[in-house]
Amino acid sequence: MARMYDLIRKKQLGRELSEAETDYLAKGIFDGSIPDYQISALLMAIYYSGMSDSETIRFTTSMIEYGAKVDLSGISGKKVDKHSTGGVGDKITLIAAPIVAAASKGRIIVPKLAGRGLGYTGGTLDKLESVPGLRTSLSAREFESVLSSAGVCIAGASSELSPVERKLYSLRDVTATMACYPLIASSIVSRFYAAGGDCLVLDIKCGGGSFAPDIKGAKALAELIIKVARSLGKRASALVTDMSAPLGRCIGNSLELSEAIAVLSGSGDKRLTDLSLEVAAEMLFVGGMGERDECLAMAKGSIADCSALDKLREMVVAMGGDGRYISDPSLFEESKISALLASTSDGYICDIDAGLVGEAAALLGAGRSVKDAAIDHRAGIVLAKSIGDPVKEGEALATIYTGKLDRAQQGMELLYKAITVKSKKPHAAGALLCRVDNF
Ligand code: URA
Repeated sequence: MARMYDLIRKKQLGRELSEAETDYLAKGIFDGSIPDYQISALLMAIYYSGMSDSETIRFTTSMIEYGAKVDLSGISGKKVDKHSTGGVGDKITLIAAPIVAAASKGRIIVPKLAGRGLGYTGGTLDKLESVPGLRTSLSAREFESVLSSAGVCIAGASSELSPVERKLYSLRDVTATMACYPLIASSIVSRFYAAGGDCLVLDIKCGGGSFAPDIKGAKALAELIIKVARSLGKRASALVTDMSAPLGRCIGNSLELSEAIAVLSGSGDKRLTDLSLEVAAEMLFVGGMGERDECLAMAKGSIADCSALDKLREMVVAMGGDGRYISDPSLFEESKISALLASTSDGYICDIDAGLVGEAAALLGAGRSVKDAAIDHRAGIVLAKSIGDPVKEGEALATIYTGKLDRAQQGMELLYKAITVKSKKPHAAGALLCRVDNF
């Protein structure tokens, strides 16, 4: 009979968990018999000692065993899911998922179990829940029903869907055990599997605002996730994308949802729009909608004819949300406190450190520091400039929004450290770095 104490000790010593042990662990998390402090200790031991690929596959399989699997066999169309490994300002799911459902005209269904904020990175669910009335904790039946009406559903893990992963995710968020490849791979693949997807497109974030510091690490993470998905008979492909600077201009929950709406309305930040279109095109491609350039044109068409924005509204309403917020994002309430950060010199924006910006946004109230804490949907940062933009002394670099006066000063200081202005104009590169796939 396994004991949690022995599992923790085994991982501390760098040894592998057997199938019986990963099963014991998943079952104990599922039925609540293992307390959070022991799960957290195990996560920390895994963080330091890692897991072999076969152990990661065993762990993922055990997580999937305990929880419902969505049955989408009654809904026609290829089921294509998308997961990001997490970044700062990453609202691509909110843009790409409705694009794919709209552009494919029902030939691709997007079933997605998204995550909450993890460490300094933001979470899609927290962003979506900025819409009054919208519920992301759905039963398997409700998830299927939104998918059959809207063709896209972005919900969260619940007590029914992916419950083991849900517990692990919430503990990783507050125990600084996010940046661990086996834990990321098992988290993503178990959620993808539970949601009933046929194929998976990964957006592997790379750089200071992500959990993969460089291209080599990002490719290794992509390969691991693809391997775990493969072991379950699922196909996956990955785009490795830059996360050294925040994606887009907005960081924080309702701010990011508003920015996603701007992209779907055709007036969003160019780098964010381009990358969202690349991800959507990859999803259309793996879903069999044509060659990559044809898929890119389809994705662009769904922004131009407003069908993607209509699709987002349709999904929000199907999930109980107030669709007027999608038509008119000015309805989102502003934070009580806002302050402007001004440049102290003339020059060009050379660097915006995504990790520091993410930390600042979390501090201002956009993220959690303890499990299940409420977040402030209005808090965050709006950058006034992108990398390469000229700036004059005294001109605005960013605005912070918060409900906590005592955090404003500290947030401003972090943000000031994050933004580098130099006299020489830097080279501004695109966000797509490379592709890793098995299609
Ligand atoms: N996204 C996930 O779904 N899980 C992780 O662990 C990180 C990012």
